[in-house]
Amino acid sequence: MVSTPLLFESALPDRSTTTDLVTVVVPPLAGEYLYAFDSSAFPNLQTGDLIEVPFRRRVTQAFVLSVNSELERSSYEEMKKNSVAIKCIDEAKLYTRAFDQAHLPFYRWIAKYYVEPLSRILELAVPKPVLEKPLRTYSLVETKKQGDNTPSKFGKVQQTIVDYLAREPAPIEGSVLKKECSASAPTIRSLVTKGVIQEHVVSPEDLPLPTPTVAQATPSPLILNPEQQAATTLIANYLYDSSFVAGLLHGVTGSGKTEVYLSLIIDVLAQGKSALIIVPEIALTPQLTERFISRLQAPVAVLHSSLKPKERWRHWTNLVRGRVKVAIGARSGVFAPMHNLGLIIVDEEHDSSFKQGDGIRYNGRDLAVVRAQLSNCPILLGSATPSLETFHNARSGKYLYLPLTTKFFDAPQPDCTIVDLNKTKPWEMKSRNISPEFYQKLQETLERGDQAFVLYNKRGFASYLQCSCCEYVVGCPHCSVTLTYHKNENLGLCHQCNFSLLPPSVCNQCGATKHPTKEDTPLFTQRGAGTERVYDELRELFPNARIATLDRDSASTISDYVEILTNVRERAVDILVGTQMIAKGHDLPGVNFVGVVDCDVGLHMPDFRAGERALQLLTQVAGRAGRRTTTGAVVLQTRVPSHPSLIATAAHQYEKFADYELSMRQSLNYPPFQKILRIIVSASEKSTAQIKINTIAREIERLIQPLDITLLGPAPAPMEKVRTLWRFHLLLKGSTLSDIHRVLKIIKKAHPSTSAVRIAYDLDPHDML
Ligand code: ADP
Ligand code: ZN
Repeated sequence: MVSTPLLFESALPDRSTTTDLVTVVVPPLAGEYLYAFDSSAFPNLQTGDLIEVPFRRRVTQAFVLSVNSELERSSYEEMKKNSVAIKCIDEAKLYTRAFDQAHLPFYRWIAKYYVEPLSRILELAVPKPVLEKPLRTYSLVETKKQGDNTPSKFGKVQQTIVDYLAREPAPIEGSVLKKECSASAPTIRSLVTKGVIQEHVVSPEDLPLPTPTVAQATPSPLILNPEQQAATTLIANYLYDSSFVAGLLHGVTGSGKTEVYLSLIIDVLAQGKSALIIVPEIALTPQLTERFISRLQAPVAVLHSSLKPKERWRHWTNLVRGRVKVAIGARSGVFAPMHNLGLIIVDEEHDSSFKQGDGIRYNGRDLAVVRAQLSNCPILLGSATPSLETFHNARSGKYLYLPLTTKFFDAPQPDCTIVDLNKTKPWEMKSRNISPEFYQKLQETLERGDQAFVLYNKRGFASYLQCSCCEYVVGCPHCSVTLTYHKNENLGLCHQCNFSLLPPSVCNQCGATKHPTKEDTPLFTQRGAGTERVYDELRELFPNARIATLDRDSASTISDYVEILTNVRERAVDILVGTQMIAKGHDLPGVNFVGVVDCDVGLHMPDFRAGERALQLLTQVAGRAGRRTTTGAVVLQTRVPSHPSLIATAAHQYEKFADYELSMRQSLNYPPFQKILRIIVSASEKSTAQIKINTIAREIERLIQPLDITLLGPAPAPMEKVRTLWRFHLLLKGSTLSDIHRVLKIIKKAHPSTSAVRIAYDLDPHDML
């Protein structure tokens, strides 16, 4: 039911001869607008259509919310009484289905939760339509297929075409024929004229779906182990009842979570329903998509932002029309227009990429739970290291707790050693960053012919450059961060804004031009490390090993990434050095050693989730060691050896860590015990941003007096300047969503973001910098 009054675009006195009525939203506006429309131009216009409407002297895109409803009728009668005319839409320039009526409550829910106009949610959810021209496809005329051997005189190419089409079960696109048979348009046309082949004009949306090829045939059915079976049965009960439940599938990598997903999806499809799978970084895990397609033997829609607009729209349309029943997507996959949804799966549910970092800062995982609730279907959240929010929900009985406690192939957990770098003297180190223990384990691994992963979660060669005379550190002129030195390019690079600089030969601060004591030493000392430096050190220590790097510098595109991992899989690499990119779920059976050069990177960030993130990353990367039969080894180098995240990783004690961390969160009133809202103001003048945040804070102080909310700040953001903008922030903690919402609604309305002063309202924030 529409709660706000309908608006209208006034027209010249009654042009509307028709009395069919439609309500639309126009991105990015908040209003819902009433139009009359010409039903001959729009047969079957319905909720979820995307059309163009005349709006304030231009034509703009609009989403249809309802057609000929009672509210529309009564509004229209009212207007007629007052001799007001409304605009009529009489031309169907753009007219395509964007979503289904059944999805509207979900989109409305999101709008309400994040306090955004519905139109902006639809704009975010629905990909840009790419309307394609009709295609020509060709097939053999039936009689020819059945072996009519009337002698026809064919040229060589013509014969190739006839033979090609004889092998194909469905009509083939003209462009494919041209390519496969080296045919020209006139050659194809001549076969049509001769009555040998037939031409069909089809809409691209009706093209047959690609079917999985025989090479991907289903392996013999698997027998689930007792824990897998228990998890599957519990969820399946809700599936058959069409009722909501959320389950946490808590199992280490290799424990068989994906097999649980697959067996449930097979049940869902057998019931004629559809399944939605959401995973982080889907573009980086093509094997996962292949595994789903080959096991399900069903077409699968893939949704993520690295697809070409045309492909993305085709996948979307196939789902809207109910032609495809399985979708795999990244964060934005949560919006997928599934019909008759039977199950949602969120894999690696703890991953921070589910949270959108700008614009409408939604959380794809949290929205997936809401969607399951609205769709009356179960949702399964899988992880080896669940987010504390999800784990808390499972503990408190809100979610089902479904543990998988062992690796499927009975491999023991890797043997983890914590190396306390405080205790190793610099001259005892094998190189600047590699301790003797690390070196020895790595050497043993290479001698056995096994592979090793080395994690250093920072790219570049040195974290910063410092003047050897006055200690001045080279920073970015646009951001409040130091420039990371990249040796390969010989540049100081800003990891926030990509600003770069040749290492200076003169110090900006003291004017020095050379090192005070050493002749041939550069003025600027390289401090701290990065993947490039670790790579260099390993090269020197293991000159015969084949070493590769995997980070955003070495793998800037998806194909680079796939190529590097293929080399590792094919054993063309002995040691892979990289950032957190090496930790993502690749099943590489040759890897038997994982070394973390510095566990402390990121551990001391001013962020209440820093410890949780460290545990997740370390556990994830440690899980790469010894995936099949042999025991793997893990070495964790640190300067804080008693940190709970490290101890828990080394001892494989996630639950102990969760208990400790949850008690901390509870005493400090952080999520999952309280709701938080972060407001970030940024502007190019420092004082502008500061004045604005102070104004907002004063208003909030007044508003929260009768409410159970605490205000922290305002204060400069830890990352005080980014891309030339000065940033200030404040944090609200409240025990109920309704209190937080009350403040959010009032403040957001009074202080909208503008181009001069940007204001981000981040509900349930993940980024605290
Ligand atoms: P996860 O998703 O937890 O990392 P997977 O589902 O990928 O684990 O399982 C790990 C390995 O064990 C895979 O090679 C998978 O094919 C195999 N596996 C899992 N469950 C079974 C089963 N019930 N029968 C046979 N093989 C299984
Ligand atoms: Zn910068």
